[in-house]
Amino acid sequence: MKIRFKVSGRHSVFFSLVAVAAILSGCAKGGPSGLTPPASGSGTGTMATSVSDNSSATGKNLRIVASFYPMYIMAINVARGVPGVSVETLAPPTTGCLHDYSVTTADMKKLEGASIFVANGAGMETFLEKVASRYPSVRTVRLSDGLDLIDEKGSPNPHVWVGISGAIAQVENLGRFLAASDPVHAEAYRANAAAYVSRLSALRDRMAAGLAPYKGREIITFHEAFPYFAREFGLKIAAVIEREPGSEPSAREVASTIETVRSVGMAALFAEPQYSPSAAQTVARETGAKIYSLDPAVTGPDSPDAYLAIMEANLATLKEALAARPSSN
Ligand SMILES: [Zn+2]
Repeated sequence: MKIRFKVSGRHSVFFSLVAVAAILSGCAKGGPSGLTPPASGSGTGTMATSVSDNSSATGKNLRIVASFYPMYIMAINVARGVPGVSVETLAPPTTGCLHDYSVTTADMKKLEGASIFVANGAGMETFLEKVASRYPSVRTVRLSDGLDLIDEKGSPNPHVWVGISGAIAQVENLGRFLAASDPVHAEAYRANAAAYVSRLSALRDRMAAGLAPYKGREIITFHEAFPYFAREFGLKIAAVIEREPGSEPSAREVASTIETVRSVGMAALFAEPQYSPSAAQTVARETGAKIYSLDPAVTGPDSPDAYLAIMEANLATLKEALAARPSSN
């Protein structure tokens, strides 16, 4: 079975909001809204947010396109309230990680007239060359450039944002890049980046404190999204159930995961809301381990605070799961 499905119900709520917003504003889905006035507050779910409220003051519009959801959430934070700036996502917000993602013509069209393309880099976007050759005037920033990347068999693990320190470094990279690209608003980008970074730092402190009792504990995750997170909080990833997202693990891989769970005496497995938990269910059935959901923040609501909320939920989940049974080692 190769079909992915959403386990979390919140996405359907999100899409009905999109539909309502599209009807109310009379704009067709897929058409970049340019500089439509922002909805009051945040999180109406259009995923093409105008973060400006007085764009007419400058006369010059800056369109930022983010490659996928986590980059989009960073961009709407750093560009928040900056006159004339809009942010949208290239890949639809339900895409999840871009590992096996083929960019569509409609996606690429969003780069027409865009100024800046915000990519994760580290191999996550396989279409960067295509973007560069088709839209040479679009400036691409790879937010993982210059960071301490975890190597996996000769290539970097791209899930940098899943560690809070990685997210902080990426937001700082984005703040610097936008300040340099749009110098008139440099101060605003810097202030936004600093404000978001301070909230992320507070989150990191809370998580470090909450997870301190579990340092050295082993966890089993669903795909290869959590090494940065684990490094940050002193957890060990004993096994990964599905290395290639979207492809079911082989019987031998499942058997070896079952072996690991038994030998370590593990009580918890961590699936992800974006993928079918069927392999995890098999392992759980065979071992008696319980399945929890750990979210790598690759899908979610259209809200600047989404990443913070997802990580708070991850913290609560981990505390519950790791407290469930003391580790045998
Ligand atoms: Zn991934």
